[in-house]
This record gives sequence, C-alpha cells and structure tokens, in this order.
Amino acid sequence: MGFFTDTSVCIGCKACEVACKEWNAVPEDGIALTGMSYDNTVGLGADTWRHVAFIEQRKPISRQDSGLHHDTDVLAMAADEPSTDFRWLMSSDVCKHCTEAACLDVCPTGSLFRTEFGTVVVQEDICNGCGYCIPACPYGVIDQRDGDGRAWKCTLCYDRLGQGQEPACAKACPTDSIQFGPLDELRERAQNRVEQLQDAGVADARLYGESPDDGVGGDGAFFLLLDEPEVYGLPPDPKVTTRDLPAMWRHVGTAAVTLVGGALAAFAATALGGRK
Ligand code: SF4
Ligand code: SF4
Repeated sequence: MGFFTDTSVCIGCKACEVACKEWNAVPEDGIALTGMSYDNTVGLGADTWRHVAFIEQRKPISRQDSGLHHDTDVLAMAADEPSTDFRWLMSSDVCKHCTEAACLDVCPTGSLFRTEFGTVVVQEDICNGCGYCIPACPYGVIDQRDGDGRAWKCTLCYDRLGQGQEPACAKACPTDSIQFGPLDELRERAQNRVEQLQDAGVADARLYGESPDDGVGGDGAFFLLLDEPEVYGLPPDPKVTTRDLPAMWRHVGTAAVTLVGGALAAFAATALGGRK
C-alpha cells in the first residue's frame, strides 16, 4: 500500500498538513511564514510529516500571481486573457516509504520496521535517539525532535490502516491530490494521468519515484511532478545509502582475517626463535 501524490491538482490548502498533525498529535512547528512564499515549514522534519511546498516560477500555466513581480501585465490579467508569465507549483511531500529503506537498515534497535502493509514505521518507545537513520535517508525525511532526541517521521497512519481506514492526509485532501491504495493500482492511475496531461500539452509532466527499478527499489510514496525533481527539492536520482554495506563488511572481514593471520604468524615465529 502507498501514496500517489498528484501535484497537478494540489491547491496548497494544507489540509493534509493539518490532518496529519491532528491525527498523529504532532507538535506545532511554528506558523510564521518564511517571507519567501506561503510555505511556513520549509521542509519535512520531526514535527512536519507532510509538507506543502509553494514554488513560484516564470512559466505559463494559469492566472495566478504572487504580486511580487513588478513587470506582470495586470491589465492583461484583468482582461479575459490568460497570464503567460507565471505559475505556482504546489506539492505535498512526505516520507517515501522506500522499498529499500536505508533508515531501516541502519537502525540498531529495531525501532524502524517494515509493516504488513509494506510501509516503514518508527516506534518512538523503542528509538534510543542514536540518530543513525538521519544521514542514511537519501531524501532527508527522518529527523530528531528537539528536546526529545528520538527520530520521528510519517507512519502512513499505521494505526488507521489497521482499522481499514485511509491515512488522514489522503482523507482530508479536497482535490484528491493525495491518493492512497495498492501500489500497482496507483501506478496505473498515475501513468494514465501523466499521459492525459501530456496529451493536453503539459509536456513537463512526469512521474517520480514510481519505478521499482530506481535506486531505492521504488517509493511507497511517489509523485506526479510538473517540472524537474530538483525544483521541488527532491534528489533527481536517489540511491539507497546502505547498498555498499555488504561489500564493506566483506572487506572488514578480509582485513580482520589478514590481521589475525599476521598476528599468529608473528607469534609462531617468535616461539620458534625462542626454542633455538
Ligand atoms: S524516505 Fe527516508 S525515512 Fe522514509 S523510508 Fe525512505 S529512507 Fe526511511
Ligand atoms: S490537502 Fe490536497 S490540495 Fe490541499 S495542500 Fe494538501 S495535497 Fe494540496
């Protein structure tokens, strides 16, 4: 099970952020705007499990305007002419619930685990605050909470799934930008949607994280984007950070065997030398 977030229909209402906070009792993280956009949290964190990004671009798509650009033709906008120089991209980001999740690989306590729904959950009562998972995440999702020290992130509403309910963010989203369901069904729906948009002339529409062949084995939360992933603050080619661990452990093993062998040889040489 997972999420398909279709950013082409997101209206930036933040109902998903609020529903996530309310259901999961996530502490408030400040409501002051950054001054750069209508974004007040900037990114995902221990106290922001859904984050709605607002990206302002000089590209045509609609009649929206931030009022920040002094060369916008206000008269043309007031007339029945579509604005041609500005668009707003909005996208609700979340933990990707990676198929190959590095956070889970490095957790020494078993606090992070794969659920029966295929999602990745952190159990706060087992987390010891070591923080290994934080640099391991290729998306910068999981985070330690100030004054608490433990790691927190989206659980894809594990408790709701157990009751046969959809996650709170998907339930609250008024435009169905966030869709929840079996990944195969979501991938098919997403493919149809991207083709529909491209046929309608939205050439930049693309899917992100949907392929099981990508560097993390596919995301349990994937996205339809209207521009390059970097525009949304997403890594263009994420890789599971623990993929070299087996080779590293093999090298460590070889080095240990060599060291022990060397020590034994030195000991034997010393013992033989002493017997002369
Ligand atoms: S996005 Fe990061 S925190 Fe979420 S499952 Fe993947 S590695 Fe773990
Ligand atoms: S609830 Fe839906 S439309 Fe509103 S900000 Fe979240 S994803 Fe966008």
